[in-house]
Amino acid sequence: MLYIFDLDGTIRVTRSGRPCPNCMSDQVLLPGVKKKLIELEEAGHKLVIATNQGGVSHGYMTVLEVWQNILQVNVLCDYVFSDCRVSYYSPSVPRSINFVDDAKPKPDMLLSIMNCQRPEMGAVYVGNAKIDKQAAKAADISFCWAHEFFGTRDKFAWEVVENEHGYHPKDWFALNQEFMLDIDKGVNPHSPGYYCNGFYDPSGME
Ligand SMILES: [Mg+2]
Repeated sequence: MLYIFDLDGTIRVTRSGRPCPNCMSDQVLLPGVKKKLIELEEAGHKLVIATNQGGVSHGYMTVLEVWQNILQVNVLCDYVFSDCRVSYYSPSVPRSINFVDDAKPKPDMLLSIMNCQRPEMGAVYVGNAKIDKQAAKAADISFCWAHEFFGTRDKFAWEVVENEHGYHPKDWFALNQEFMLDIDKGVNPHSPGYYCNGFYDPSGME
């Protein structure tokens, strides 16, 4: 089976509460993700990422920074991902004309991945947003919500992260302290600070 994953809110979240990380120390894996991905990879399935990174069009981050972060995600996941497709396009930014308009909910990235695989290989897209479901439907492949796929204990986490413009990140961390502490035991052991922009006081986590 070919498993294609959305990235933000599906595989990772940010410590700062931003929709996407703008530095490697701002990203953490969501609970249960690494274990599940390794199980799938060891069972012989193929794992790929398909993600919108429209922040590049907005100037929030560079293409290089996007790929540095994705590489680190793959390192954190023991290199389970064999391929990745990224859309830098944002329809709300005029300079996006410099990029290809292939962002979800368009199916382009998913179709591109499918074209590189054996036709008989079944495929499913795992995501946390409506555009993920729409893209899977347009590509004529199965879809699964991230919280169901990874069996998280708290669906609320994904709902809040999905609502990228309507929440205060402090609320998310306050409700998920146990998760974040568990995750951090294996993530960024050399990170100098708990949160790279000091948005949340780490003393409150202990
Ligand atoms: Mg997402």
